Amino acid sequence: MNEFVETLLDLPWQTETEPNHTYDVVIIGGGGHGLATAYYLATRHGITNVCVLDASYIGSGNSGRNTTIIRSNYGIPEAIAFYQESLSMYEGLESETGCWVMHNTKGQLWMAHSTGTARTEQTRVLMNNACGAPSDYVSPAEIRKIVPQIDLTGGGRYPVQGASYLHGGATARHDRVVWAYAQGALRAGVHIFQNTAVNGLVKDGGRVTGVTTSKGSISAGVVLSAVGGHVSTVSKWADVRLPIRTHTLQAFVTNAYAHEFAPIVSSNDLVFYVSQTARGQMLLGAEYDRQASYDRGTSFAYLQSVSAKAVALFPFMAKLRILRSWAGICDISTDFSPIMGYTNTPGFLLSTGWGTWGFKAIPAAGSQLAKLIADDATPDLIKPFALSRFEREMAMADPSSAGTK
Ligand SMILES: Cc1cc2nc3c(=O)[nH]c(=O)nc-3n(C[C@H](O)[C@H](O)[C@H](O)COP(=O)(O)OP(=O)(O)OC[C@H]3O[C@@H](n4cnc5c(N)ncnc54)[C@H](O)[C@@H]3O)c2cc1C
Repeated sequence: MNEFVETLLDLPWQTETEPNHTYDVVIIGGGGHGLATAYYLATRHGITNVCVLDASYIGSGNSGRNTTIIRSNYGIPEAIAFYQESLSMYEGLESETGCWVMHNTKGQLWMAHSTGTARTEQTRVLMNNACGAPSDYVSPAEIRKIVPQIDLTGGGRYPVQGASYLHGGATARHDRVVWAYAQGALRAGVHIFQNTAVNGLVKDGGRVTGVTTSKGSISAGVVLSAVGGHVSTVSKWADVRLPIRTHTLQAFVTNAYAHEFAPIVSSNDLVFYVSQTARGQMLLGAEYDRQASYDRGTSFAYLQSVSAKAVALFPFMAKLRILRSWAGICDISTDFSPIMGYTNTPGFLLSTGWGTWGFKAIPAAGSQLAKLIADDATPDLIKPFALSRFEREMAMADPSSAGTK
């Protein structure tokens, strides 16, 4: 395994080849969220009779497809507190798990190209500082010091007026994070089965009591769905209707750029973001495709529009070539906030609504959901993100979830 992880390797550390008949907790989905919840159940609460099932290989969903950005500069206080907790946990993840996840604090600039968005970014700074995410509003001259490659005129069309700057903005190697949690969970006694699709739920009265899989039925004390973009299918089996639609999100990388490109840069008006990978490649992303879809295809139109915006701010990119593009399918909630915890169906819990922003949330969500399952009570940090908020008309509309605008 090199630093960029061979994802198709078998899982070492596990001798069992078939799942047991019964577990205390069955987790559907071996992405970052499912695996982190299993890891914290075992390591913080001593609940090791846990099984994680993935239809494919671990990290094959969005957890191995994202652009690896970790930030906490969200738009509502509850979200800032939650994501700041996750950002801090990421800073300690290597020492906690003993695995090198290539965590790198880079800082994030969020550019404004108009008076209106400059005000938005100034407001973001005030709100972030008030809620515990250290940020500054920086001038064009300060921006140039952080990222000398910038054309402050924005190609003559998008002049840079200023930016909010989140000091703690970071990246980590996505599939290394998945493997760190998997390894830690396995070592603590959790079972993980790849290529094991869940194809239904077992119910007794109104309660979910297990799952049916391609390898037979498994009984469970509780079942947690952490299946990314496939959540509507799994929830339907539990008679839970969700305010979620699945959309495609694309990303791409260029060939390697020889110089250092230090920060993560997002543009509020241009609606795209860019950072440099550990390989030196420029990694770009933007908004999810508007049409709801389970399609993981990418499009020339997307590459063309994002490239044009990027070159306006960073002319050096015109000389790079696009190497690779890919997509994932994202569980977007109607208020752009996650949904964690209990449903109205006893025995069935959710970790969903992670949309285009859930990689950064993996440590906090996993640890909080593990606590919820262990204590059978929702921790304060994630209370606002309960599914029941929609019944109570307490939606958590967050304008800053996507990291673009
Ligand atoms: C292109 C792109 C860029 C992104 N960039 C960022 C970013 O920079 N920062 C950020 O914070 N977030 C980002 N995200 C979002 C982030 O990747 C996701 O929110 C996060 O990875 C979701 O993790 P998860 O564990 O919930 O789901 P996933 O990682 O999708 O895992 C779900 C797993 O469930 C399995 N599964 C599905 N159905 C079944 C079934 N029936 N039985 C068994 N297993 C099943 C799948 O095989 C999959 O492995 C991005 C997403 C994409 C697509």
